[in-house]
Amino acid sequence: MGVIEAGIAVVHGRIVEGFRAPFREDAYYDVVLVPGFSDGHAHPQVVDGGLRRGVRWRNSYEWIRERDMVVDEVMVRRDLSVASKLSYLTMVRALLEGTTLLALTGRLAANVRAWFKLRVRPRLVLLPTVMDRVGWSLGEVVSDYSRVSMLVSDGFARMGVFIHSLGMAGVTTIRESLSLASRGDGIVGLHLGEGVSELEEFKRVLGEPPYPVKIIPVHCIDDDVQEVGLQCVSCPTTNIILYGRTRGSLAGISSFGSDWPLLLGTTPKHLRLIRRVFKEPLEVIARTATIGGYKLYEIPYDGDMVAFDGNLEDVMSGYVKPKLVIVNNQVAVYDGALVDPQITVEDVEKRIREAIKEVSEKYGSGAQPLIPPKPEDLI
Ligand SMILES: [Zn+2]
Repeated sequence: MGVIEAGIAVVHGRIVEGFRAPFREDAYYDVVLVPGFSDGHAHPQVVDGGLRRGVRWRNSYEWIRERDMVVDEVMVRRDLSVASKLSYLTMVRALLEGTTLLALTGRLAANVRAWFKLRVRPRLVLLPTVMDRVGWSLGEVVSDYSRVSMLVSDGFARMGVFIHSLGMAGVTTIRESLSLASRGDGIVGLHLGEGVSELEEFKRVLGEPPYPVKIIPVHCIDDDVQEVGLQCVSCPTTNIILYGRTRGSLAGISSFGSDWPLLLGTTPKHLRLIRRVFKEPLEVIARTATIGGYKLYEIPYDGDMVAFDGNLEDVMSGYVKPKLVIVNNQVAVYDGALVDPQITVEDVEKRIREAIKEVSEKYGSGAQPLIPPKPEDLI
């Protein structure tokens, strides 16, 4: 048995100097994160943001109505093999970027299938999306739910439901989704206040706290969810891409989400933008980007660690790739490459570009969806 040492570490959201922990060999790194990064909101099957050059929308409903989709997203979801391949690439990319926890929306059966393909898996919160639309109906999610709930009953992943939004799901769907979520781990996510205030509507439909399930709103650009005792996941990058604005304060925000991990990367790839948007001290940003997501979703973090060569400032700006990624005491990434199969972050980025091209040919006109700018180029 050896010892892993680091000059500086972010341990459970606190910056500490001089870090030591048991490891299978002696090793020294400049920076260690315990646990690794968390991505509190990610759509692992999104390959097309429906973007139109030079256009921004007022809110999520206007975007959904008017966006320019090149790829048929219903067909992508239905094709379990394609959907699970996209999810697999999302998870591999996450591990290589140092993201050890992902909260995934999208197609549940596809996400679980992808997860089981990995030898060392990231921790997951599985929140299949429900809305009153063909392809996302509650009935379809219920059938996936019954198929996988036994498989993920070991506590390493947690299950709930993601109600797309108050405007895309009727009251009956919302009530039934709450009861379905209670069959899992009682977690309900939803997009809220994404360009338009929805808190009054939220209170009208779901009432005042306390709520029978754990509700986690996402985006919250126009609503202060602390008013109803909740904490939000902020996705500043897609807020800026779609609406040209985001919230500038971390009050009421417990975690960051990438929203579109295949197009934008997971949380660490957003840190440069996050640091420019939010003026809170480095330690607060570091806490939100790492343990914040774990605490919000109540996920254990024993044995999760990411190690880097470089300084903390660069690590927390997303400039440095991790050398070592450990989840639940198992080494997922060693010397900058996934252990099994041997893949680097450059390899997975290439495979993602190829997959987007394939999906666009299979379920689109063949035209490539407009790729969004990198988060760091946005502001
Ligand atoms: Zn979303």
